[in-house]
Amino acid sequence: MRRCLALTLFFTVATACAVGLANDSPNIVFIFTDDHACQSIGAYGSKINRTPNIDRIAREGAVFVNSFCANSICGPSRACVLTGKHSHKNGFYSNGRNKFDGGQFTFPQVLQKAGYQTALVGKWHLNSDPTGFDHWEILPGQGSYYNPVFIGKEGRRKIDGYCTTITTDLALDWLKQRDSKKPFLLMCQHKAPHRTWAPELKHLNNYADRDIPEPSTLFDNWDHRSKTLAGNAMSIDRHFYYHYDLKVHLPVPFATNRETRLKDGEYGRMTMEQKRVWDAAFLPRNKAFLDDPPTGKDLVRWKYQRYVKNYLRCIDSVDENVGRVLDYLDENNLVENTIVIYSSDQGFYLGEHGWYDKRWMFEESLKMPFVIRWPGRIQPGGRCEKLIQNIDYAPTFLDAAGQEIPDAVQGRSLLPLFNDPKSNDWREAVYYHYYEHGGEHQVPRHEGVRNARYKLINFYSNDGYNLFDLQIDPNELSDVAANPKYSAVMKSMIAELNRLRASYDVPELTAVSAN
Ligand code: CA
Repeated sequence: MRRCLALTLFFTVATACAVGLANDSPNIVFIFTDDHACQSIGAYGSKINRTPNIDRIAREGAVFVNSFCANSICGPSRACVLTGKHSHKNGFYSNGRNKFDGGQFTFPQVLQKAGYQTALVGKWHLNSDPTGFDHWEILPGQGSYYNPVFIGKEGRRKIDGYCTTITTDLALDWLKQRDSKKPFLLMCQHKAPHRTWAPELKHLNNYADRDIPEPSTLFDNWDHRSKTLAGNAMSIDRHFYYHYDLKVHLPVPFATNRETRLKDGEYGRMTMEQKRVWDAAFLPRNKAFLDDPPTGKDLVRWKYQRYVKNYLRCIDSVDENVGRVLDYLDENNLVENTIVIYSSDQGFYLGEHGWYDKRWMFEESLKMPFVIRWPGRIQPGGRCEKLIQNIDYAPTFLDAAGQEIPDAVQGRSLLPLFNDPKSNDWREAVYYHYYEHGGEHQVPRHEGVRNARYKLINFYSNDGYNLFDLQIDPNELSDVAANPKYSAVMKSMIAELNRLRASYDVPELTAVSAN
């Protein structure tokens, strides 16, 4: 009863303040990383690392365990977040081929106009200047881990140090100088843990004394699914570069031309002192590897360990810096009226299916972490299993700030789920569409639909449907689209896909062959 009353009061206030701000408009701190897989977050049951500060947000708030992206790649996911719309409506389909139209509706512009102080620091990756922010300072493109360059309204500057720490410094500097009488939106967007997984110097020896457990599908042979899987170029086995990805800064006598093509740009950016610490960690390990190199499956295992340990070391810095932001909120009496979110632009393969990278609609890259704390509005220790998507973030922020949600926004405010995580008034399925084709990792265009139990993927350029029963095949190893037992499921999933395509106004599909 009390909750109902509170909800009624909230919506009364929200409606009344649609053109202005209520006195208690919440601050919003949105911490967003790049390629952080749920499998490496404690709150999502990680078996391979610890993330105490991200977990604190979940413990004091809620974890959304079925949180998905709409298009599993960096720029497009960010465009979905800003606009609350799928790629075909916000116009940003793929990295490197699109420029984000910052003149279209985005939630920061609305919050700024309503009276919020707004800032964005760190990774942007949309090939245009940010709009809707009083202050912004962004990394050019992918940015760098070491001694990164930032671009702001005043121009470019190189800042010595480690990117995750510097991005947090810039975020805290902005918080310290803000007008404490007005609410704020802070988007703190890290490069980490994106490729090339260059850890901070102080974390180079983390995990050095143990093996990280391997995923059960490390040696997946991609049988029993679309033939397009076997055409991938993102395998742990064959598609890492020794210098660039695996940090073997020595000649590798048995490397193929492909495996030696790139140097590690991060190493080249380091100061002599940084290189000294880096080399002290890696040179002995690299010498041991080259003195007695493993072969066959053992070499794949070695590459997995080298890759995943560096990835987890990058996350160690992320988690520490999440802690610095939480500490600042603690110390400045900002906990009660501030929404804190930790999320990442899509998931990632940490050896599952034998892969690194993202793009495919399979679970590991389809999922996005989403943990949120909002004292008084979200019960501590909450867990929501409803299907949410990155197109829901913009309407959520507008709703929380008492602003109207434009009809053209395709996502839904999560506020009703904050009050009732089991609400029946919620979507039953999410729509996904990956538009890039060919390119470095050779993942074809595909679209699909996922509900609580099933996933239908349409490889429309070349290979038709795959259907997965996630309840009995959670690792998605066997397509059952042609299995007669699933004929009724197939029919209903195709109908659901068509219903979602119509409701989101998805243009007619254009087959594109991978180049
Ligand atoms: Ca990404």
